[in-house]
Amino acid sequence: MTAEVKRVYAFGKDAEGNNVTEGNTNMKAILGGKGANLAEMANIGLPVPPGFTITCQTCMEYANADNTWPEGALDTIHEYRLDLEKRIGKKIGDAEDPLLVSVRSGAPMSMPGMMDTVLNLGLNDQSINGLIKQTENPRFAWDSYRRFIQMFSNVVMGLDGDLFENAINVMKNSRKAASDTDLTAEDLQELVAEFKKIFSENVSGVEYPSLLVDGVVAFPQDPMVQLKLAIEAVFGSWNNPRAVLYRKKNKIADDLGTAVNVQSMVFGNKGNSSATGVAFTRNPANGQKEFYGDYLVNAQGEDVVAGIRNTSPIAELKHVEGLEEAGKQLEEIFVVLENHFRDMCDIEFTIEQGKLYMLQTRVGKRTAAAALHIAIEMEKEGLISKEEAVMRVEPEQLDQLLHPQFDKNAEYDVLARGLNASPGAAVGEAVFSAADAVAAAEAGRKCVLVRWETNPDDLAGMIAAEGILTSHGGKTSHAAVIARGMGAPCVCGVEALKIDAEKKQAVVSGTDVVIKEGDMISLDGTTGIVVLGAVELVLPELTGDLDTILEWADEFRTLGVRANADNPEDAQLSRDFGAQGIGLCRTEHMFLGDRKQIIQTFILNDDEDVRQKAVDQLFEAQTGDFYGMFKAMDGLPVIVRLLDPPLHEFLESPRALDVEIARLEATGGDKGVIAEKRALMEQIDAMAEANPMLGLRGCRLGIVYPILPVMQVRAIATAAAQLKKEGLDPKPEIMIPLVSVVPELAKLREVAEQTIAEVAAEQGVELDIQIGTMIELPRAAVTADEIATKADFFSFGTNDLTQTTFGFSRDDVEAEFIPQYLQERLLPFNPFATVDPGVAKLVKMGVELGHQGNPDLTCGVCGEHGGDPDSIHTFNAIGLDYVSCSPYRVPLARLAAGQAAIEAKKAQ
Ligand code: ADP
Ligand code: MG
Ligand code: MG
Repeated sequence: MTAEVKRVYAFGKDAEGNNVTEGNTNMKAILGGKGANLAEMANIGLPVPPGFTITCQTCMEYANADNTWPEGALDTIHEYRLDLEKRIGKKIGDAEDPLLVSVRSGAPMSMPGMMDTVLNLGLNDQSINGLIKQTENPRFAWDSYRRFIQMFSNVVMGLDGDLFENAINVMKNSRKAASDTDLTAEDLQELVAEFKKIFSENVSGVEYPSLLVDGVVAFPQDPMVQLKLAIEAVFGSWNNPRAVLYRKKNKIADDLGTAVNVQSMVFGNKGNSSATGVAFTRNPANGQKEFYGDYLVNAQGEDVVAGIRNTSPIAELKHVEGLEEAGKQLEEIFVVLENHFRDMCDIEFTIEQGKLYMLQTRVGKRTAAAALHIAIEMEKEGLISKEEAVMRVEPEQLDQLLHPQFDKNAEYDVLARGLNASPGAAVGEAVFSAADAVAAAEAGRKCVLVRWETNPDDLAGMIAAEGILTSHGGKTSHAAVIARGMGAPCVCGVEALKIDAEKKQAVVSGTDVVIKEGDMISLDGTTGIVVLGAVELVLPELTGDLDTILEWADEFRTLGVRANADNPEDAQLSRDFGAQGIGLCRTEHMFLGDRKQIIQTFILNDDEDVRQKAVDQLFEAQTGDFYGMFKAMDGLPVIVRLLDPPLHEFLESPRALDVEIARLEATGGDKGVIAEKRALMEQIDAMAEANPMLGLRGCRLGIVYPILPVMQVRAIATAAAQLKKEGLDPKPEIMIPLVSVVPELAKLREVAEQTIAEVAAEQGVELDIQIGTMIELPRAAVTADEIATKADFFSFGTNDLTQTTFGFSRDDVEAEFIPQYLQERLLPFNPFATVDPGVAKLVKMGVELGHQGNPDLTCGVCGEHGGDPDSIHTFNAIGLDYVSCSPYRVPLARLAAGQAAIEAKKAQ
């Protein structure tokens, strides 16, 4: 806290009508969001009821001192209260003409879970008479008093709100009143007495000895006691469990504190020319420039939001008798606010006997569609620049636009909740194995794959299914990563699901629901919701707005965007989304389905002829795959990674085999078959590795089985040659994974170059195919200068690089301890989702050293981080040439890269 920061800041006018506001909108860290913008509105001449703001820093001092007041703070508040009384010309608690105030919390960022607002503070058994006298409206006065006791008891003293609601209902019933507005002044006076009784009976005299009068707790009559208790309650609410949890979830610091706004009351409940409401300056759902919001006549505070009566649309306000002037003024203020904040604002207002008061404003939250539309319109209106328009849209929000969703009007019950792992909604029959998913899809039935967790064996089923549901695993579990890559909706970690894959059913704990194979289920991967039955889906309307903003982002961005794709459909999709090439084509995905048999034959046979035949078959298949890929990406680079995963990923699971053998034995199965299975089992066992991620994989495979890279390079070159002959412009590049020492790369490079030369000669075409490597091991990053002498390009595989830098096994640690690390803030974020600074340092070193070794080196990133906005900023700063991400994240990456470039330019 710097010396100049005061404890309390005034806002609004003095008695002569001069603005005496001491704060402004840039002081959110001191005055909170609400206080800073109340000050700002007063400064630009909008009608704001006068008041003062106690700073966030005071709250922190109070909290850090075990809830004791900093010295002098109460005196300062007292001074500002006296000053406010002078400015208004009324005194709090006055029996002739009392000043009433609201006490409002307001943290630097909007934060649900904080203390609610207390209205009408200052009323007591004396000042109620003053209020009646001044307003000649006993009904209004008693209504205000009962509201005050109710709010004070609930919000400040923590009493159950139902105690009071029940009393109101009893009263309404006995008076046969349909609505609270039907209660008379006498009724309300009676309620006040009743409320005071409830207060006495429910507040503990031990906890609040100062409230004891003759040994009995009494509702505090001294306005200063009321005020002090209310401020203390706001301060205390900063550390209430709900607020703490919210901050943790949203990565908000715990030491910001909340401000307290004490503001003179205006009254929306003074009859039919009074009202209260909330509004947005534009439609926050679709961005249309129209008046948007609701109001209630003769109401106060949160009545509008609480839904106690039906509200009316804001556009009607200026046609309502007694409210015309205020309605027109409000529409003018919409324009003033937008011009001033240069953005869409949301506002809270009250009209007291025809006079409009502004009670709050802030930049309004909006959907992705609205964010795009508003940014573009405001640029056209000349309100903001193109750069600002690009900065206005949250990249993560774009996901909302690119996937089907539950129809907003659909009615459904939530069956269970899990992690919103991959956005979009899916509806289909529940199936419990990949094979059943494939079968369903082949029969033309839509299905949702329900698994404990998925593994590479499930891939075909995951592709066949509309969506994926798992009971285990986090947001970067296999299911989640693959689903996001495919753009398939996925809800994972639904703990309530007790899956029995054998029986093909799942019990939902806490309910009596059993999901059986074939039952329709729906899931929403954007929210993590699972529903029994088919929910109506809609494709969000894609306006041209998305295209426009992305084109604008492209004008600024310097970082290229490519996609990770391994089939022609995904390649085409990424191209449609604006990808400038394929940064990673994983060839292992091409070895699944019916080809699995072929690769298994290769792995499990020692006979050279049999092996060669298998490889020939794979060559045929791969040539076709690459042909399709290069054709879809004609004219754009396609980086093909040579086979990377440990070979046993293509084999049967030994556990399943074990079970099968046991079953065969138990049921007296064929001896020959059993012996065969046993032999297979032994072979698989022999290939098992204690730590497969660190074993025989990546380029090591190509060194041990040279026949594999030769086949793959041959297929790549052959496909390219064919397309060239057809007059197209294929641009394949060959990537050698998991290199740690130069000789590995040198050896495989030589093999590749030779094979390419052979194919070029055979086919009679010129082939210019770049050869590069992945940098995914720390050793490669720190010796990148040497490695670059043998590489045309680097692609940083930041998934593996994160694993190998931390020594974390992703599949294990994400479930085992990363959640706890995040909880305890040992890690600020999951390094598998957003690139870790240490890993980024290795990338930077790799890029710099790499360029020393080869000045023409192209450098990109192809890990999951390539689609993460924060990581994209980091990669932009490092000076990479491109990021590569899953097709559905290409639009987001284009936007984030544009924003990174704009920010970098600003920082210069
Ligand atoms: P929240 O942070 O939950 O929006 P606020 O502090 O904005 O809480 O208060 C909620 C509502 O209470 C406001 O929208 C307004 O209707 C009413 N309110 C707050 N202060 C005053 C006041 N000084 N005069 C009249 N109404 C007020
Ligand atoms: Mg508010
Ligand atoms: Mg890798």
